Amino acid sequence: MRSKRARLFGGNTRSRLVLTLGLAVVLPALTLIYVNYRHVKSIQRDKKIEALIHRDFQYVLSITEKRLRQKTIAFIDDARNRFPSTADNDAEKRQKLNALLATNPLFSHAFIYDAALGDKALIVQSQTCMSEKDHERLVKTYTGWFGMEGREMAQNINKKTKRLMWYSYVDTTTNGPTYSTTALFTLPSSSPEQPVLAGIGFDPNQLKQIFFPAVIDEVLSKKLTDKQDASIAEMLHELTPAELEAGGPPDERLAMNVYLADTGTAEDYRPFMTSSTWGVGEPEVAHNLDDPFKGLSLGIKFQGTTAEAIGRRWVTQSFMILGVLSVLMIGGLVLTYRSVNKQVALARLKSDFVSNVSHELRTPLALIRLYAETLELGRITTSEKKNEYYSIIRKESERLTALINNILDFSRIEAGRKEYDFKETDIAELVRNTLDSYRFQIEQQGFALEEQIEPNIPKVRVDREAIARALVNLVNNALKYSDHEKFLGVKLYREQSVLKLEVIDRGIGIERNEQSRIFEKFYRTCDPLVHNTKGSGLGLSLVRHITEAHGGDVEVESTPGRGSKFTLKLPIAGVTQSSVAGIGETTSATGAA
Ligand code: ADP
Repeated sequence: MRSKRARLFGGNTRSRLVLTLGLAVVLPALTLIYVNYRHVKSIQRDKKIEALIHRDFQYVLSITEKRLRQKTIAFIDDARNRFPSTADNDAEKRQKLNALLATNPLFSHAFIYDAALGDKALIVQSQTCMSEKDHERLVKTYTGWFGMEGREMAQNINKKTKRLMWYSYVDTTTNGPTYSTTALFTLPSSSPEQPVLAGIGFDPNQLKQIFFPAVIDEVLSKKLTDKQDASIAEMLHELTPAELEAGGPPDERLAMNVYLADTGTAEDYRPFMTSSTWGVGEPEVAHNLDDPFKGLSLGIKFQGTTAEAIGRRWVTQSFMILGVLSVLMIGGLVLTYRSVNKQVALARLKSDFVSNVSHELRTPLALIRLYAETLELGRITTSEKKNEYYSIIRKESERLTALINNILDFSRIEAGRKEYDFKETDIAELVRNTLDSYRFQIEQQGFALEEQIEPNIPKVRVDREAIARALVNLVNNALKYSDHEKFLGVKLYREQSVLKLEVIDRGIGIERNEQSRIFEKFYRTCDPLVHNTKGSGLGLSLVRHITEAHGGDVEVESTPGRGSKFTLKLPIAGVTQSSVAGIGETTSATGAA
């Protein structure tokens, strides 16, 4: 019977467990998940990933602009140093300008305008590939322009620290608009009072086909080897070294283009130059260039995706990870709770077991002592009475022995020390002998015993003592758990290669949902008769262990109120190995009816 103390013990432990789980595990885990959820939510709401990517884009664009400017200015600085001096004569000047043009195909033409020389103020030299017509056009433009503003322009340029000015222009040709820029500076050899104007024009085609693509490719290929950018890329994805080298996964490689700033709207968007990775579409982030490429814009985007899509994907992934984590946590909690609950139940069963066993030990001992003392006092005179007392003492000591044997076996099994001694055995004779020694007790309790042992049962290799103990346990249970109809049937027969030993009663039976549990150690059903009957809850777990050690199993068929049938199945081939498994570790399910 479950004591109040045991129930209290179970109740307290369970609430302590719920409290510990709640405070030590659930609360911190839930807080962590909630904080992470809020964090991801805020990233989603404020579009932080997009902002991060756009900031990164701006950074790439400004680096590109810086590289374009640095390179262009380096060309011009180099050219300025090699420009003719004011002291050179006309032919020398032309020759030096030609030499200059020959070293850099990016330059389309170079010129000097020295207002002091009157008619011969302007010298313009063009690349050899420039047509006569274009050259004439240039000369005409410069003559008109500098004739009016040349002197003033030279004065203004001289006031600038670098003595350099840029003039950018868009020309409309039959092939669409072209863009070019011209560097205007003063000759270092000219006097500050009368500065001489000079300049170099850039070839629109060279800019478009060679210069911009080269600088952009250089920036794009260096982009992800830069530490800061690599870390952003890594933060957004787990990149393989190859992907990192290539600049991210294929659809996320950067693409850049250059377009005329005033044609940047969707309707007449005409990129002036695009990187090979561009594909189609408009730039995500644009940046208007300053001198020397005023009037142009740089655009940037991913090859096959957008910052928004990446942000969305990141948020979805984060939510999925959080979801999986939550599910894992809940699963873990349920498992822990169930396993501890099991332990609590086992602890309660053990405590019931201790009280049941002590009671079971005390009762026969008290009886033995009582009857022995009565006999000792010599008060019993009739030999009939004396025999009755001796028989009670024998029966009670037999009960004690059976109980102690069960407990010893159980503890050996639990410690993994139980060994079986398999020997060739006539099992029919074993069953008969065992029943014979119980026959008197069975009949005295008013039970009708029906014994059916098939003839010609083959010998099998079993542990004699263990099989007898299994049978005794089953018979004892049949006697204990029968009330109105006192019937005990024992059948031994062969079915193909299996030997079946059945113990049948017409007692209280077992509820269906309890049928598989009765083989667990310490388990006793909830029936009131069971609670009023002494028992340790060990018998059936021993029976199961014994049959499994013989390579067989045990089954129960039972109807509450109608009785039960326990069937031991032993393979005829026999089992020779000894078993050392613990009761809790015998795994195969004992089939319920
Ligand atoms: P014990 O009999 O010492 O309680 P067992 O392990 O032998 O322990 O049996 C476990 C439980 O299975 C019993 O407490 C009882 O509830 C149930 N049981 C076993 N045999 C029978 C039976 N023949 N009829 C009804 N219930 C049974």
